[in-house]
Amino acid sequence: MTQTYDKVKEKIKRPRSLATKIFVYFAFFTLIVLMLLWLMQVVFLDEIYRTVKLHDLKNCAQFVTHSVETRNTANGVMEASKKYNSCITVYKIAGGKGSVESSSHIKTTCMIHNLSSTSLLNEMYEGAKSNDIYVKRIELDVEDTDTLMSSGTEKDTPSAVVCSQVINMGGTDYLVMVDDEILPLTSTSRTLTYQLIYITVILLLASALISVYISGRLSKPFKDMSSKAARLAEGDYEVSFDGQSFLEAEKLGETLNYAASELSKLDSMQKELIANISHDLRTPLTLISGYSEVMRDIPGEMTAENMQVIIDETARLSSLVNDLLELSRLTDGKQLMDKAPFSLTETVKETVSRYSHLIQNDGYTIDFIYDRDAVVNADKTRILQVVYNLINNAINYTGDDKKITVTQSVENGKIKIGITDTGEGIPAEQLPLIWERYYKVKDFHKRGKVGTGLGLSIVKNILVMHGADFGVSSKLGSGSTFWFVLEEAKAERL
Ligand code: ADP
Repeated sequence: MTQTYDKVKEKIKRPRSLATKIFVYFAFFTLIVLMLLWLMQVVFLDEIYRTVKLHDLKNCAQFVTHSVETRNTANGVMEASKKYNSCITVYKIAGGKGSVESSSHIKTTCMIHNLSSTSLLNEMYEGAKSNDIYVKRIELDVEDTDTLMSSGTEKDTPSAVVCSQVINMGGTDYLVMVDDEILPLTSTSRTLTYQLIYITVILLLASALISVYISGRLSKPFKDMSSKAARLAEGDYEVSFDGQSFLEAEKLGETLNYAASELSKLDSMQKELIANISHDLRTPLTLISGYSEVMRDIPGEMTAENMQVIIDETARLSSLVNDLLELSRLTDGKQLMDKAPFSLTETVKETVSRYSHLIQNDGYTIDFIYDRDAVVNADKTRILQVVYNLINNAINYTGDDKKITVTQSVENGKIKIGITDTGEGIPAEQLPLIWERYYKVKDFHKRGKVGTGLGLSIVKNILVMHGADFGVSSKLGSGSTFWFVLEEAKAERL
């Protein structure tokens, strides 16, 4: 019961599919377009038609008025009549009577040219004198003196609309009258309604089809990549992501390919690490158990030398475990630094002197060259780890002359420590990789040393935490120099 409820809840929470979303957006857009079409073509058709007519009528009257003013009446009347498809008459009013000055008659239903009485003429004249432009609408029987704009009801019969304007030229009034027809739009509106019903249905169907097609095309690369990502999650690093035809999908594909190659690298590094660690653990453990058994079973084997082997191997085991712990602490980002001023020169000197037994017993030479004592503000324990790891590596990988040189130079408030060996060096293409976790330069291990490949990664993490510059220069056959730079703590100079 609970499970079903959870499943339902899960379903409700999930976002809608691309196809549904695209269809909803399309349908929404289509509805807006249809709504505008309905409003323009059906609901407000009559209103818009009459507004346009009235606008044309007024423009026509103004055009003719202008031609009267410029004494080009006949031409102006002809031109306006053609342009606006209206009947026009210009009267000259003199002595209370109007005589036709110029006229264009293009419709038989025209009100001006079929004037049966002078009452309309008088009304248009008086109306135009008190208003700038006077407009009158004339129905079949009923006279409607409202302006066109104010008439809201649809008319089923054609009506005439007459517009007049008066202009005074040299003391004489000229009356410009323009006539046009307003046709009932009932059947037009019905036709448009039918058309719009079809258009609505077709558009909705088309938007459904188009959205299905588009969403199919858009979602295909993502669906493909999602199934490939599932294979990647199961450990198939050979999988290749292809964004197909979209830039965004292509970019995602590139990122996933990069992630896959990194995961594959990490996976093989981890496998290698496990192999290394197992090897590293097995060797000292075999020695410890072997020596312990010998010391227990064979009288006279309980010697200091045998004990030393067990002690050395135990130390080797614990240093491996410490390295692993240290690296995991440094990389999880929770490790805080304990910064304080200390003499870097002294620290390096002390580290070098710790190797004195190597110098005495195995013929190593470790020179420390420096000009003056320099102080840094850093985490002493960690910087010590850096110096220790780098010197340790130099000892492990130096040449047969067993020579290591540590240098310290101070310039512009920066202290540079360099650790140089005379070993085989590191191939140029491997130089950027040696700082990676678990990385070991193949075929370059000296004296059968089995490193964990963690030392330089620990060094890198510590130096990055300190914001220090660091690097390595190496020449095959003549050795390597590992270096890092720390700011000198001037104020606290010891
Ligand atoms: P490891 O425990 O293997 O020494 P590191 O992280 O300290 O691990 O070093 C990574 C790899 O870099 C080493 O395996 C080695 O191949 C190479 N390397 C480090 N220091 C030197 C050096 N001074 N000379 C030559 N190769 C070096």
